[in-house]
Amino acid sequence: MRNLQVNGERLWASLMELARIGATPKGGVCRLAASDLDGEARRLFIRWCEEAGCTVAVDAIGNIFARRPGRNDLPPVMTGSHLDTQPTGGRFDGAYGVMAGLEIARTLNDLGYETEAPIEIVAWTNEEGSRFSPAMVGSGAFAGVFGLDQALATPDNNTPAITLGGELARIGFAGPAPVGGREVAAYFEAHIEQGPILEAAGLPVGVVTGAQGQRWYEITVTGQEAHAGPTPMPRRRDALVGAARIIDAVNRIGHAHAPHACATVGFVQVSPNSRNTIPGRVFLTVDFRNPEDAVLTQMDRELRAACAAAAASQHLETAVEEFWYFPPTPFDPALVGRVRDAAATQGYAHQDITSGAGHDAVYMARIAPTAMIFVPCVGGISHNEIEDAKPEDLTAGCNVLLNAVLETVEGAG
Ligand SMILES: [Zn+2]
Repeated sequence: MRNLQVNGERLWASLMELARIGATPKGGVCRLAASDLDGEARRLFIRWCEEAGCTVAVDAIGNIFARRPGRNDLPPVMTGSHLDTQPTGGRFDGAYGVMAGLEIARTLNDLGYETEAPIEIVAWTNEEGSRFSPAMVGSGAFAGVFGLDQALATPDNNTPAITLGGELARIGFAGPAPVGGREVAAYFEAHIEQGPILEAAGLPVGVVTGAQGQRWYEITVTGQEAHAGPTPMPRRRDALVGAARIIDAVNRIGHAHAPHACATVGFVQVSPNSRNTIPGRVFLTVDFRNPEDAVLTQMDRELRAACAAAAASQHLETAVEEFWYFPPTPFDPALVGRVRDAAATQGYAHQDITSGAGHDAVYMARIAPTAMIFVPCVGGISHNEIEDAKPEDLTAGCNVLLNAVLETVEGAG
């Protein structure tokens, strides 16, 4: 394992300069996908890549590929992330992975280091899914999860007449390159953790072994509306009491599968939602997450049993619809091992970690060997203007990325 070092000050300076595009008064960034500001950030990224000797291609969904050539015209090792942010986003989510890729190219240039295979730095379109839903559209289209027409037709959530495709054309990023079909030897993505685990453990590097699976449900509980005064307690069919039992059960299911399970009810609608009417109907959502499919299946069984028990005890009907299923995505063991070795070689304390959030890497894992590197963020806070990260941790993650990429790119032939 090689032990080269990036220029951490240059990495930080680039992140700070990029963060000026869409900077918010509270120190965050608002740079929505395919907005004018996104276009500005993209042009700055391309200028920096070209100055670093890369050749830039843009595909029809606006994904940007900056290629640093190798000795041989082999499939490239790709690394990157996204430049778009949440409306109240921070300076590091996405931007870090793209700037880390750029810093690798600059470091190799400084060293006069020619790799065997090319390295490509990628900036994926619309990872956040905030202005245009769903999320991870650029990488998803590249990986064949979404059709190109479908992806281009994605409407703006506030102004449905505006589409992602139209906005990409307007900002000059509906590129000529075809979407997908581009060979990828391996994909690495560096990202802030967006959770509290690494910071709490005092570790600068997380070796991401995969992304957890998710099961989303929509549950409708039906009882009977009745007057809150004249209806005796034993005769009631109170849908909200049933829903309350289900909500409590969801929380218990999460705790029962500690430490990795997450279980959330985040949306509840009560009808008629009147203080002197017994609720006749409740609609609620459930979000289950776990890195192991077998545990998710067990959580599913427990949820359905809890719904049946709640219905029986309150004389209700419950309808449980599975709304979305996203299987757990284990990353490539060889690449994950390379990330771990790179961290160890450089003397960075590290631990294995599962990604709780979705990332472009999750879709890339469907078509190429993939791994991720996490660095801590202050307080575990992300999708927030106060999102912050320490320069030394960002440098550590980038050093790990550099050496893991090098180990891969030299063996790619
Ligand atoms: Zn991100």
